[in-house]
Amino acid sequence: MKFRNFKMVGFVVYGRGCFDQLDEILAPHRKNNVPMVFLLDHFFQDKPLVRRIPLCGNDEIIFADVTYEPKTSYVDKLAQQLKEKFGTVSGIVGVGGGSTMDLAKAVSLMMNNPGSSADYQGWDLVKHPGVYKAGVPTLSGTGAEVSRTCVLTGPVRKLGMNSDFTPFDQIVLDPELTANVPANQRFYTGMDCYIHCIESLNGTYLNEFSKSYGEKALQLCQKIFVEKNSWDDDCDNKLMMASYAGGMSIAYSQVGVAHAVSYGLSYLLGTKHGIGNCIVFDKLEEYYPEGVKEFKYMVEKNKIDIPQQITKGLSDEQFDTMINVSMGMKPLWENALGKDWEKIMTRERLRKLFERL
Ligand code: NAD
Ligand code: ZN
Repeated sequence: MKFRNFKMVGFVVYGRGCFDQLDEILAPHRKNNVPMVFLLDHFFQDKPLVRRIPLCGNDEIIFADVTYEPKTSYVDKLAQQLKEKFGTVSGIVGVGGGSTMDLAKAVSLMMNNPGSSADYQGWDLVKHPGVYKAGVPTLSGTGAEVSRTCVLTGPVRKLGMNSDFTPFDQIVLDPELTANVPANQRFYTGMDCYIHCIESLNGTYLNEFSKSYGEKALQLCQKIFVEKNSWDDDCDNKLMMASYAGGMSIAYSQVGVAHAVSYGLSYLLGTKHGIGNCIVFDKLEEYYPEGVKEFKYMVEKNKIDIPQQITKGLSDEQFDTMINVSMGMKPLWENALGKDWEKIMTRERLRKLFERL
């Protein structure tokens, strides 16, 4: 038995308004005449947050287009652009949702690694540390702020650059930044966290480390989405910590059926991670009976729409593509169903599941 020895985030600051400490936090990482680059979710274009970015010297703000989830081609373009303009940079600071977190991590790595980010999609393929990188989440749930991966869609696969060089050097957890997320988006990304917990806590990889974080994150999600009757600042505080703890939980375990299936949807149809997980989880009563029951209650209570029949009318070839992508997520299936998962989750059974989505 070999135990995972995993790299964690370097520094963490948490609290309402802690974003204002960013200037002080970045100061020791600034190199003479080498800019700090702020990668901001395009949602913040024309928003007051832009004026609070601690710019100095030749620092640059880039607005990240997150209409689609991050692609390797976009990462390569951003890194190339920065290399041409500045040679190198003091650091990359990502400010936004999970997509922006992943973009910031990937661009930081590609500043110091040759070739295309597509060459590094997989496990431990990255050879050199990236430039300094900090993450400031503005949407809670994915756990991308703590994870050792950054999920990218490449020419042949949707897979992260999983490596010890991937986690942020610094994260700034300021729940105030999540105040204005629309209710549907907040729910979809919040449910990503809820589903991380259910998949981790019901998985065969579970140990006391991931259980401790997973139970706490699950409890926080339940407080917010099951017990509370209206959204307030305290919900933002709690969901930000749930995301962090949920991410820590899967760091030492793995996700499961919902994620494996949702990757297939996302690859073929471009369905986004949060909503895709909700669409799939809604139909997983056979695998996670209690979690799915509670999920349905939360959907109803929070008056959220979960799209139905999104795979209706797809061709056999399209179903095969989704099945192939999904079946490729071996560790997820093994965590969910055990070593003999291939005997349990046959292609026929998976096809039936896809047809219900
Ligand atoms: P997202 O980052 O794609 O953002 C969703 C939408 O919310 C966007 O339109 C964005 O502009 C908007 N938004 C962001 N902050 C906002 C704010 N404060 N107010 C209003 N709108 C705001 O969504 P997400 O669910 O956070 O992230 C999904 C991505 O995270 C996917 O690309 C997925 O692959 C990735 N992910 C990564 C990991 C990891 O471990 N690295 C884990 C899970 C998911
Ligand atoms: Zn997820």
